[in-house]
Amino acid sequence: MKIAVVGTGYVGLVTGTCFAETGNHVTCVDIDEKKVQMLNNKQITIYEPGLEVLFERNIRQGRLEFTTDLKEGIKGAKIIFLALPTPPGEDGSADLKYVLKVAEDLGPILEEYTVIVDKSTVPVGTADKVHAAIAANAKVDFDVVSNPEFLREGVAVDDFMKPDRVVIGAESDKAKKVMEKLYGPFVRQGNPIIFMDVKSAELTKYAANSFLATKITFMNEIANLCELLGADVDMVRKGVGTDTRIGKRFLFAGIGYGGSCFPKDVQALAKSANQADYDFKILNSVMEVNQAQKERLIDPLKAYFNNDLSGKTIAIWGLAFKPYTDDIREAPALENISKLLSLGAKVKAYDPEAMENVKGVFGDKIYFAEDEYDALKDADALMIMTEWPVFRTPEFDKVEARLKNKVIFDGRNLYELGQMEELGFTYHSIGRKIIN
Ligand code: NAD
Repeated sequence: MKIAVVGTGYVGLVTGTCFAETGNHVTCVDIDEKKVQMLNNKQITIYEPGLEVLFERNIRQGRLEFTTDLKEGIKGAKIIFLALPTPPGEDGSADLKYVLKVAEDLGPILEEYTVIVDKSTVPVGTADKVHAAIAANAKVDFDVVSNPEFLREGVAVDDFMKPDRVVIGAESDKAKKVMEKLYGPFVRQGNPIIFMDVKSAELTKYAANSFLATKITFMNEIANLCELLGADVDMVRKGVGTDTRIGKRFLFAGIGYGGSCFPKDVQALAKSANQADYDFKILNSVMEVNQAQKERLIDPLKAYFNNDLSGKTIAIWGLAFKPYTDDIREAPALENISKLLSLGAKVKAYDPEAMENVKGVFGDKIYFAEDEYDALKDADALMIMTEWPVFRTPEFDKVEARLKNKVIFDGRNLYELGQMEELGFTYHSIGRKIIN
């Protein structure tokens, strides 16, 4: 089947590559000329484990192409995916300008019946808007389908190739059949393709992300309470997570969620609710708590240095919003770095994959280290912002030798308290006893 994917970012490139991997012919379209030029030169534009092998193979075998020309890209396509950005607008609701612009552009250039698929995360009612924008100038029949994407950056290829479920909101049988055929190879193990009405599909994505953000935030509040009551959040996590109604995942306390999805999706759902005259109280609290949580370690850090960080050098381990990605959108590390700089501190940072992206934000305002130990040289303290595996079992004698003070502020609870005590570090983590 010939498929077009419009928008070749994290979702579009994974989607396009994985559909090519199952034998489809895919053309990915993007307005970013530099990106398309790189992709055409077989240079991958994002870091995503496992993607490069599939990317190279499918280009080599002629099933994966890239263009900036929408008309050329959609020629002959039976299905057109919209994997476009839906960033927060000024009022917090999802900004649909990218999606609707492409919809308008598609109208006059569709040549035969096509299924247009919203893969972007979009509020309820967007498919109707996309339909209207295309219909204004379309000469042929078409259907608009909602197929929200649940992939997680860092394990996106696995998530896409073997999804827990595929959600498809479609009103026409013709469109349903096309989508069922396309996704057949991805659900061979028996995971479901769940067909539903378009509005429910649109809401499912927001409900899933908002629920997960709430779960994390709930545990972060339990952690904050643990600190006050002298309990240990890791013990509480194990205690509650073994209840199958709760589940073990998404219960790790830390310095808040970030990324390109949770923050904007929680905000957009709260706004959608608001527009429907519903005050979604939990979501408002989730946003407030998460914002505060991101800077949870700043106060103890300041206190350690007698409330004066000016001239102090802070080493930061981890910049990406989570491990196995170079994505830094809404990453807690960025907010902490800005805060540290505003308090007069200097920053030496290291991340295995995200440094190039952070250079675009801070330029030479911070020092980008060669590796995790280089970041520690002459630093007054270490802060851990991302749980990259490489930070989990460092050589502590090297850490000690390079840091001016044996002090770690760990936003991801990477180390055992007993070990820190034994090694003689001052160790602040989230929801656990302070080791002095
Ligand atoms: P992204 O910013 O990485 O990619 C979007 C791409 O669209 C960019 O390359 C941009 O240049 C391109 N673009 C913008 N306007 C265009 C136009 N007119 N024509 C062609 N291309 C255009 O975004 P993303 O992270 O891939 O997210 C896309 C959507 O998927 C969002 O709605 C997001 O919420 C949703 N989503 C993202 C993830 C994730 O983990 N990143 C997961 C699930 C869903």
